[in-house]
Amino acid sequence: MPGYKAPLDDIRFLLHDVFKLEEFCAEFPAFEDVDTDTVNAILEEAAKLCEQVLAPIDASGDTDGAKRVDGGVQAASGFAQAYKAFSEGAWGALGGDPEYGGMGMPKTLVSAVEEMVQGSNMAFGLAPMLTAGACLAIQAHGSDQLKQLYLPKMYSGEWTGAMDLTEAHAGTDLGLMRTKAVPNGDGSYEISGTKIFITWGEHDMTENIVHLVLAKLPDAPKGSRGISLFLVPKFLPGDASELGERNNVHCGSIEHKMGIHGSPTCVMNFDGAKGWLIGEPNQGLACMFTMMNYERLVVGIQGIGVAESSYQTARDYALDRLQGRAPQGPLNPEQIADPIIVHPDVRRMLMEMKALNEASRAFYFYVARWLDTAKYAEDEGQRKIAGERVALLTPVAKSFMTDRALEVCVTGQQVLGGHGYIAEWGQDQKVRDVRITQIYEGTNGVQAMDLIGRKTVAAKGALMSSYIAEMREDLALAKDAGIDQSIADRFAEVVQCLEATTQFIVESSEPELSGAVAVDYLDMTGYVAFAHMWIMMLNVCTGQIASRVGIQGGKLSTANFYFAKVLPTISALEAKIKAGAASILSLESTQF
Ligand SMILES: Cc1cc2nc3c(=O)[nH]c(=O)nc-3n(C[C@H](O)[C@H](O)[C@H](O)COP(=O)(O)OP(=O)(O)OC[C@H]3O[C@@H](n4cnc5c(N)ncnc54)[C@H](O)[C@@H]3O)c2cc1C
Repeated sequence: MPGYKAPLDDIRFLLHDVFKLEEFCAEFPAFEDVDTDTVNAILEEAAKLCEQVLAPIDASGDTDGAKRVDGGVQAASGFAQAYKAFSEGAWGALGGDPEYGGMGMPKTLVSAVEEMVQGSNMAFGLAPMLTAGACLAIQAHGSDQLKQLYLPKMYSGEWTGAMDLTEAHAGTDLGLMRTKAVPNGDGSYEISGTKIFITWGEHDMTENIVHLVLAKLPDAPKGSRGISLFLVPKFLPGDASELGERNNVHCGSIEHKMGIHGSPTCVMNFDGAKGWLIGEPNQGLACMFTMMNYERLVVGIQGIGVAESSYQTARDYALDRLQGRAPQGPLNPEQIADPIIVHPDVRRMLMEMKALNEASRAFYFYVARWLDTAKYAEDEGQRKIAGERVALLTPVAKSFMTDRALEVCVTGQQVLGGHGYIAEWGQDQKVRDVRITQIYEGTNGVQAMDLIGRKTVAAKGALMSSYIAEMREDLALAKDAGIDQSIADRFAEVVQCLEATTQFIVESSEPELSGAVAVDYLDMTGYVAFAHMWIMMLNVCTGQIASRVGIQGGKLSTANFYFAKVLPTISALEAKIKAGAASILSLESTQF
């Protein structure tokens, strides 16, 4: 099985040349120490960890899986040692608050490390991902005491975090949840209920696990307005964060599932467990939203991480596997056959993978940069614009990146023919692993409803208009830089199409339209957003950069492919949206 290689060249091109990380950081006092040497050192060290420690236990984690042992959960073999290496490298502290032991690096840089971690071993990567999410919620909404007690231990990797939202009867509709929190009268609460599907809810990699649990207070308003957020540790810490009594939170079982076998998915029973409120009563969902934009972006990043790994295997296989002859005659006459990369259909598959992956990578940096601006800009107006852009694009990053990632991974399987279906090459695992990214953190269908409903129709199209204006500004810059006229014209057309389609949706009086076309609209936004990324990349592919990445790295050809062979999908999406809801709704429920 081929090893994972961190895509450092492309990451450096995007960070330094396209998104100009150093110039960007110079605008923020919080990032004054972030210079090129620091960035490159972080990237190289992360690549080593991912290639040498995490990737080698990816396949064994899939076959061994996490196991139920003596009422607890034993991590797949090698995972505990890998987590120790991860923690010793201080990777859990990278984006954390410096006041509590974090390194305070920008999300734009942290994202690159996340891609490598998730791409080399997604099942493992879920543990630090959920820990970082829990830290964000504690840091933004927890009391000073909770921050002091928990954040240093979580940044250092001594304790992990888990997010406990889902219940058997409350998945998408969290307002239906039944878990209760009753005040103890001493500032703590007694939490009772059962959560399901809790990722890394129980394990033996660290001494403590910090659960962030959604529950209802007595007399809470009905539905989602009556949900509060609580911190519930497995072991109750003393004043100096030393481990104390075992809390009444236990793992009931772990799920048998399609992929990410190295990541335990747990039923968690809270039997009067002791917990502490985070944020205000009944504001639990609002508190969760603080970290949701980050978490959802990381789910998108999981997609591209795994899709990149699938691409690497498919590319190497296609260069090596000898079958048939090139259409123009033997290119490898001294061998029994030509490598399959000579076949146009194999090239089509590889080009699709490459064009989508590279745009996807650019897109997560783009969204991460807005996240940094929303959090760290000194100017309130700048923070507001950035917050709106993040709100608009988070569902796109989560859904479009993961939907395309599954397509890429299936294509990566296809390139290997039957060898992609059997386990030996690992392409099957990538399809199985990446599939969950379309489901958790809010299903992709529900993300599409969020984009079209709250972010577009409710905002009367204003957030999309501002995004479209930025795309047009970037097109003007790219034209000045001399990009190909036909690409510029094509981009102008699809932006115009997105604008007109948005207007059509916002002005529609058909009540079911939004729900019926939400996924098509999200896809249209995603394809245009990826085209925007190609425009931004082409914009800098001049002079020295062009000779480094434009020609050698195939950026110009890959951009041409995206505009010629991927972007025409927009026309089909436009037709589907214009066709409205009627054909979806015409059957009675009993006719299905
Ligand atoms: C491996 C794994 C790990 C997970 N990890 C965690 C975790 O760590 N913590 C946690 O709390 N949860 C976790 N989850 C739960 C996950 O987030 C939920 O499964 C997901 O949110 C969907 O909820 P559900 O499964 O109940 O589906 P449902 O909500 O029942 O949805 C079923 C279908 O109906 C659609 N649907 C539902 N409501 C609407 C609507 N209003 N409009 C349109 N369509 C709708 C959905 O899109 C979906 O297609 C995990 C799940 C899995 C499988």
